[in-house]
Amino acid sequence: MDSEVGMGDGEEEDAQCASCHQYCHFAAVECGCSDDRVACAAHTGALCACPPSRWRLAFRYTLAELDAQLSGVFGAATRVGALNQ
Ligand SMILES: [Zn+2]
Ligand SMILES: [Zn+2]
Repeated sequence: MDSEVGMGDGEEEDAQCASCHQYCHFAAVECGCSDDRVACAAHTGALCACPPSRWRLAFRYTLAELDAQLSGVFGAATRVGALNQ
């Protein structure tokens, strides 16, 4: 785990949201008008001025991996909630 800041050398796996600059680990919205500009799901409006029909959702993980991660998160949350009741 290093924290190098790339200077536009095609480091797509380190894509950051154009608005909040969080790393888009799971999914990013991309547009054909710019290869290195992405936005997280919450900030698609900050991506560019193109109509949303031009945007596409790019998954960083396969859907199976994403599903496994999400059910892990929700499973843990459910257990915590049950303990607090
Ligand atoms: Zn964002
Ligand atoms: Zn665009």
